[in-house]
Amino acid sequence: MDLPKIRDICARAVIAPIPRPVRTASGSIEAAPLLLVDVLTSDEVTGSAYLFGYTPATLKPLLALVDELRPELVGQAVVPVERMAQMQARFRLLGLQGLLGMLVSTLDMAYWDALGKAAGQPVATLLGGRARPVRAYDSYGMVDPAHDAAALRASLDKGFKAIKIKLGHDDPRRDLSIAREVRELIGPDIALMVDFNQSLSPVDAVRRIRALETVDLHWVEEPVIAEDLLGHAQVRKAVEANIQTGENWWFPRDAERALSAGACDLMMPDLMKIGGISGWMTVAGIAAAASMPVSSHLFVEASAHVLPVTPTCDWLEFMDFGSAVLAEPCAVEQGCVTARGPGLGIVWDERAVEQYRIG
Ligand SMILES: [Mg+2]
Repeated sequence: MDLPKIRDICARAVIAPIPRPVRTASGSIEAAPLLLVDVLTSDEVTGSAYLFGYTPATLKPLLALVDELRPELVGQAVVPVERMAQMQARFRLLGLQGLLGMLVSTLDMAYWDALGKAAGQPVATLLGGRARPVRAYDSYGMVDPAHDAAALRASLDKGFKAIKIKLGHDDPRRDLSIAREVRELIGPDIALMVDFNQSLSPVDAVRRIRALETVDLHWVEEPVIAEDLLGHAQVRKAVEANIQTGENWWFPRDAERALSAGACDLMMPDLMKIGGISGWMTVAGIAAAASMPVSSHLFVEASAHVLPVTPTCDWLEFMDFGSAVLAEPCAVEQGCVTARGPGLGIVWDERAVEQYRIG
């Protein structure tokens, strides 16, 4: 059988508007700087995926990086595990983190999208599962309960059974009052998660999380610096709440390292940092063997394909960064997201792409 080959790789940078700005204890996001990656294949299919650059400062270097990688990938077969091995070998001395790791992971997603589109199947099906509804939580930045009450109620009206808010205000009492007010607003039956976005020291985190113990919290996310696995473990031992982390792990080995360190009760790898669909599947195995619940981070469209084949599937994070440039954004139905195919279901709205394109 002739395997499809990579004919070309194209990338465009956009600043996409997002439904609501995301304020965190470690910086704000007003719009989504995205790199839209297209892998054109020899069987006339285009595999697509987007990379979230966090800040517009990453976009030009990423475009340049695509130009550097293109000659090494054009002519190669669209076989994600082989391309991952190729990139790991090529950059062994440098290591796959940072912008390079984000791009390699995004290319992996685009390969899988191409394979699914060529087969006329959702990626979830290619992975041995099927597109099924996955429960999602609505993911907020820092909120002002009075100002955001209507939005929070609208989330519940959409059927969300869980809400996440960011904490980490200078004054810990403000964190407590906000968490209390949001809990009151959403009622006792909705899961409430909080995210400190790496803003605390371990000692501070223990004090602050204990102070929140009167509020029923579903998880406490990244209380300390993501790389500080021992700090996470220290906090986890000292508090009742479940500790969630993983969005800043680089490739499956970081997941294994975090588990070995006892850093968390729950994990939430990010498709763009964990090695795309291929990296996720490795981590799904590690998590299954450790009986650890797995949630997703961003990338609603692709996450909806990998969570159904994750044995310890937990929650899908609904933070919608791609919808402004997608022909068919993911929909929330009864608080759940169902994967769309073929492929990852990623097709650009070309008019919107031109509108938001930069450079
Ligand atoms: Mg987070």
